[in-house]
Amino acid sequence: MKRTFTCIVCPNGCEIETEYEGTEVLSVTGNLCPKGRTYVTQELVDPRRTIATSVRVMGGTMPLTSVRLTSAVPKDRIFDVMEEINRQTLTAPVRIGDVVIRNILGLQSDVIVTKNIDKA
Ligand code: SF4
Repeated sequence: MKRTFTCIVCPNGCEIETEYEGTEVLSVTGNLCPKGRTYVTQELVDPRRTIATSVRVMGGTMPLTSVRLTSAVPKDRIFDVMEEINRQTLTAPVRIGDVVIRNILGLQSDVIVTKNIDKA
């Protein structure tokens, strides 16, 4: 089978023409580096995505802080992960690296703070 993937590993966004059988990659063209082949293989076997979003903060100088996952989670669980993150409310102060949710939904990824918010 043939399929075109857009590599999201770096800003180049290479369009990678791929020939594959099941989860075996037979050939790739259009990738500027070997990471493209690894990305395509990952997409065929176990597609994953990461998230950067925000969480409410009570009693802070700003109403929101930014957060991110520490590692990518299965693509088909992204909406579940977002729902879980959206349920959270933090209390100021919050500090970069604070863990908001450890091992979210058992997916072996933590949600951590990426912006300091001081107490108001
Ligand atoms: S194939 Fe390499 S250069 Fe192209 S987008 Fe992926 S990581 Fe970047």
